[in-house]
Amino acid sequence: MFKFTEEQIMIRDMVREFTKNEVEPRDKWMDENGFDWEVHKKLCEAGLMGIHLPEQYGGGGGDAVMSEIVINEIAKGSASVALFLDADWLAADMIYVHGSEEQKNHYLPLAAEGKIFAFGLTESNAGSDAAAIKSVAVKQPDGSYVLNGGKAWITNSGVADYYLIMAKTDPEAGAKGISVFIVPKDAEGLTVGKFEHKMGMCGSATCELSFDNIKLPADALVGKEGAGFKIAMMALDGARISIGAIASGLAQHAMEVAKNYANERVTFGKPIAKYQGVAFKFADMAAKIRAIDLMVWDTAQMKSEGQRHTVEAAELKLMSSKWCCEICDECIQVLGGNGYSREFHVERFYRDAKLLEIGEGTSEIQRMVISGAVLAK
Ligand SMILES: Cc1cc2nc3c(=O)[nH]c(=O)nc-3n(C[C@H](O)[C@H](O)[C@H](O)COP(=O)(O)OP(=O)(O)OC[C@H]3O[C@@H](n4cnc5c(N)ncnc54)[C@H](O)[C@@H]3O)c2cc1C
Repeated sequence: MFKFTEEQIMIRDMVREFTKNEVEPRDKWMDENGFDWEVHKKLCEAGLMGIHLPEQYGGGGGDAVMSEIVINEIAKGSASVALFLDADWLAADMIYVHGSEEQKNHYLPLAAEGKIFAFGLTESNAGSDAAAIKSVAVKQPDGSYVLNGGKAWITNSGVADYYLIMAKTDPEAGAKGISVFIVPKDAEGLTVGKFEHKMGMCGSATCELSFDNIKLPADALVGKEGAGFKIAMMALDGARISIGAIASGLAQHAMEVAKNYANERVTFGKPIAKYQGVAFKFADMAAKIRAIDLMVWDTAQMKSEGQRHTVEAAELKLMSSKWCCEICDECIQVLGGNGYSREFHVERFYRDAKLLEIGEGTSEIQRMVISGAVLAK
């Protein structure tokens, strides 16, 4: 049976308190106004931006389990803020896992202090089929690169300090011709488009990027030339655990609102929670949340131990995003007409939840990963 250590429980309780005081009260504001720099400042002050990084780089020394505890607790107050952290860590971890010592020494302390990172793979014509990206980085005689092309739907764009950009260095080589580059926000030739007007997750910033002859030094390359697709897929294996942690936190947030409502709302002389038709919804929700949690901690433990977790992370993402959407949907139903109102939060939770079935690989892509592994056995 998975059990948290005393240190993990201490961090969990600290982040729970932080979320209650600093994050949850801002969630509605973010839904209407977008990214909240005040919350970012508070995350930096609390040392949470770098909790996933080793202490030698100024981080908190947390492993994958600790990281998911933080994401899970934050998601109980705001799925958008949890998604912001997920994308930031996904990008910075590519440097931690695959970067040179010089890159780690330079960028990771910046990440730990709160500089924001973004992961740029998707393009307007290449999402699920990520190897079909068209952005290209051409190597120059002096070893530097010139980057052209663009990206779409990049979380943290517009607020990020550094972009981890996947681009073709050998356009004829398919997935094996993709490399990863660090592009600073002030790189000449980088244009960040307008903020997307999204259905949900509005507290996380999402824009298009365009690259016009951006000159990148040789040391902007992360890992080996041609290893970019593999690096990106490995990073997504980890990030999909975070999607599960967000799904659990968001579902718990929604269930809490619905539970309070069900205990207070009276119809036919009784609180609606007393009717089996309503009460059983909570049984299903609780069972799904427990199943998500077990998958999150188990897969995070695998990651912490350095085990490959591609299939487990895909299974977790597939089921947790589906169940989170179902739970948020049921919570709207519990609130009746009020569930449909912006005043009562649960409609926002549903809008936020839907992204979990799309970002970081759609549910169909997770099914391709899982079925491929199952049928190969
Ligand atoms: C809010 C938001 C934030 C995002 N953040 C990031 C980010 O930070 N970085 C980043 O790189 N990307 C990001 N994305 C992009 C996201 O990862 C893609 O949208 C996603 O991978 C799907 O790609 P697509 O939109 O091009 O859809 P498509 O690939 O065009 O797919 C359309 C539909 O067809 C289905 N489909 C496609 N191929 C198959 C197949 N072979 N079999 C069955 N079904 C299939 C898909 O599942 C989907 O339902 C973000 C997206 C959103 C909405």
